[in-house]
Amino acid sequence: METHINNCIFCDIISNKAPSEKIYEDDYVTCIKDINPASTHHYLILPNKHINNAKELCSRDDELYDRILSTVDIIAEKQGLDLTVTRTGFHWPPFNTISHLHLHVISPICNINLFKKFIFKPNSYWFVSTDYVKSYLKNQK
Ligand SMILES: [Zn+2]
Ligand SMILES: [Zn+2]
Repeated sequence: METHINNCIFCDIISNKAPSEKIYEDDYVTCIKDINPASTHHYLILPNKHINNAKELCSRDDELYDRILSTVDIIAEKQGLDLTVTRTGFHWPPFNTISHLHLHVISPICNINLFKKFIFKPNSYWFVSTDYVKSYLKNQK
């Protein structure tokens, strides 16, 4: 199965063909700093395997999805994030930015400016919670 897509900036970052600030990586996921941070802390958790977006996750990605979620705790621990004031979520099609699935981790919420607050508005049509995607994934079975 194809795991690396040409002309995908995140695939290039994962395979070290493009520069980035990696915070964490293992066999399944990579976490980088967002180059255009919306708050003091802004990280992106990427599956190492190319998946276009959250809507294209299927039931066999279950374990991978759980690894993406558990990476939030690893990053919070590493970077000293208070999870009670941290926003996480995924873009929901057709409102994608980069077509490689990524979980946004933004903290603290109070430092997010008005425009970014709109882009990363929780449970909107364009930005959905990890719980939303989790139940979407369950219904894919
Ligand atoms: Zn990719
Ligand atoms: Zn994004």
